[in-house]
Parts: sequence; C-alpha cells; structure tokens
Amino acid sequence: MSVVGIIGAGQLARMLALAGLPLGLRFVMLDPAEAPCAAALGTHLRAGYDDRAQLARLARMCDVVTYEFEKVPDESVAFLAESVTVRPGAASLAAARDRLREKTLFCDLEIPTPRFAPVDSRAELDRAVATIGLPAVLKTRTLGYDGKGQEVLRRLDDVSAAWASLGGVPLLLEAHVRFQREVSVIGVRDRRGHCRFYPLAENRHHDGILRLSRSRPGDRLESQAQEFARRLLEHLGHVGALTLELFQEGDVLLANEMAPRVHNSGHWTIEGAVTSQFENHLRALLDWPLGDTAAVGYSAMINLIGEIPGPSGVVAVPGAHLHLYGKEPRAGRKLGHVTASASTAARLEDRLQRLLRVTGPREPEAPKHERPAGRVPARSAP
Ligand code: AMP
Repeated sequence: MSVVGIIGAGQLARMLALAGLPLGLRFVMLDPAEAPCAAALGTHLRAGYDDRAQLARLARMCDVVTYEFEKVPDESVAFLAESVTVRPGAASLAAARDRLREKTLFCDLEIPTPRFAPVDSRAELDRAVATIGLPAVLKTRTLGYDGKGQEVLRRLDDVSAAWASLGGVPLLLEAHVRFQREVSVIGVRDRRGHCRFYPLAENRHHDGILRLSRSRPGDRLESQAQEFARRLLEHLGHVGALTLELFQEGDVLLANEMAPRVHNSGHWTIEGAVTSQFENHLRALLDWPLGDTAAVGYSAMINLIGEIPGPSGVVAVPGAHLHLYGKEPRAGRKLGHVTASASTAARLEDRLQRLLRVTGPREPEAPKHERPAGRVPARSAP
C-alpha cells in the first residue's frame, strides 16, 4: 500500500485523500493548524512547514510527498528531496511562487502575458507606471493569493496609496487587462513525459476570489491554452497536475499565473470528467498510467464562500453534488463547493441558475469593458 505525504491539510489535501482512499492509498499530512480539514482522512503531523524533525518523519513515513500550495519553503523541499521523492519538483515550485520568475518564464516560453515590470522602490514604481501606463495592477511578488496583496491603479493619484499599502516587499506592476473572459486549463504530466489536458474552464471571480467555473469542452481557445500548459509542463519537467490561468482579450490568451498543483477551477472534474484532477495528480505521483481527462457531459462549479446553504435545498436540484470541507464559517473563507452536471449545456444552465438561487449570491457579472483597445504585446521586457 503506497503512502502519500501532503504538505498542507486544507481542502485540496482533503480532496486528494478522498480520491486516493478508494485506490488503497494512505495519507500523511503536515500542517501547523490544530484540526485542518483534511486531518481526519489520514495521519496529521502538526508542525510548521520548516520543522526539520517533522519533515524527516514525513519523509520516513511516505513513498512520495506532494503539496497542496506553493508557499512551501525552498529549504523544506530540498531537505525532503534528500530522502524521499517530492513531486512536482523544486523547479515548478520556484517558478510559481514568485510572480516575476513566473512571468519571465512565460516570456521565455513565448506564452503571451500582460506587460510587467519589477518594482522595488517608489522611484521604480513611478518609472514602471510611466512605461506600462494606467490602469495597472501592483502585486506582491510572493505570498499573494485570491486577489490579496494587490492594488489596482487607475489614476496617478492612486500611486501613493498603493505604495503605502504594499511597498516594502518586492513588487510587480502589470498592465490591467480588459479581458472578456478568465479561463484556466489543467494539465497533468507523468514521469515519462506523457501529458493529458482537461477541457478549458471559464471562471468568474468576485473580489479576487473564484466564485464560479464552467467547463467548456471544445472551446475554440482550448488548444491554444493547452499548448501553453504543455510548454510549461515540459520545460519544468513537471510531474503531477499544473494549472494555468489566463485572460482572454479578443482572440488572444494572456497568461496570468500558474499553480503547480490541482486547482479550485478543476473541482468540477470530480463528477464532470472521466478521471478527476485529484486522481490524475495521484496517478502521476505514483507512476501509474494517467486517466482519461475527457468531460462527461457539461459541468459547472459554485464555490461556497463565507456561509453554507441548507444541504437539502442544494441536493434537491437534479445533478447537484455538494462538497463541504468541514471548516468553520468565516467571511471570505472557502467552505465547500457544489458541482452541477447535466447531459446538455441548456439543462446545465437551468440547473446552475436554480442552484445559484439556493447558494446565493447571484453569478458575478462578466466584465463590462468596451471593445479591447488592442493586443497587449506578448513579449515585453521587464
Ligand atoms: P491573481 O491573484 O493574480 O490571480 O488575481 C486575482 C484576480 O484579480 C484575477 O483572477 C483577475 O480577476 C484580477 N486580476 C489580476 N491581475 C489582473 C490584470 N493584470 N488585469 C485585470 N485583472 C486582473
């Protein structure tokens, strides 16, 4: 029986374990929290991500170690890798953790991305604003997630406030994209280099947090997105799942960010694909053959954020699948998700609208931009 170690024991670890337990796998999770939501599904080592004694214990207990988030310290990964296989490897983590490295990699691989410039001082911010223009988004290079650690600059008057709020850590300024859609693609690669890709997901965010994903099998931009993900998987020698989030501007896709792991925009694959992203990530870690990534019908996923609706109202909608993570409700916290599935796109939309009335709030509106002002250049020197 194989034992999989996971750094982090939140909902992604929980869904990995839920996919792996029926396959006969066991799980050991390292997480500093007292009772993280995946802990009940395996052995929980309660320790900091840099605790050498507990990392060594994790390595001894497991056949392979993975992670559910990319903020794992480099030193911890290097330490683990001395005694146990860690997948995906250090190169994937390093690229995803720092927005400047990530965007530089996109450029190197000729994956279009919004214009960007590194910012380490107020003077550099002024120069970057002059080069990139406004509106723009100022982001922390590391540790940002779900829209945290970023400020939109619309007018020159906003520059000082943005600097006061974020200055002091390494930053990145990037052009604000007038996108029509946000999409993501999840690819998975095994050790021999075989890759498989899920259909494109179309994502709606509100306040920087993902609210709704619809799978779009056969989308006309799918092959472009999958090609970009393939370049990243191959260049990084990545083993496991990798997610690439993109903005669609006109007919062009611009890479926003990547995650070297399973992703919230792929939760629909649990019911909506032949093999879920979680199972395929595990298969890649264990050198098992990858499973079919094709969509089964049409699916969409609603995140449950801050509050949990009455379960009976959710499951009353045909084709609805409720996933609660066992977390205490708190404003802005991801507490669960609901997947809706149907055999036709029209039926799915009907079920989704019924579910949204139960889960609230309404679907976030699509951005109301005028026609795009033009392509954002694909390669722009930092
Ligand atoms: P991120 O943390 O980079 O994924 O950003 C969170 C959300 O902020 C994205 O999903 C977008 O909705 C929005 N956003 C981030 N960067 C940009 C950008 N350069 N232009 C327009 N919207 C952005």
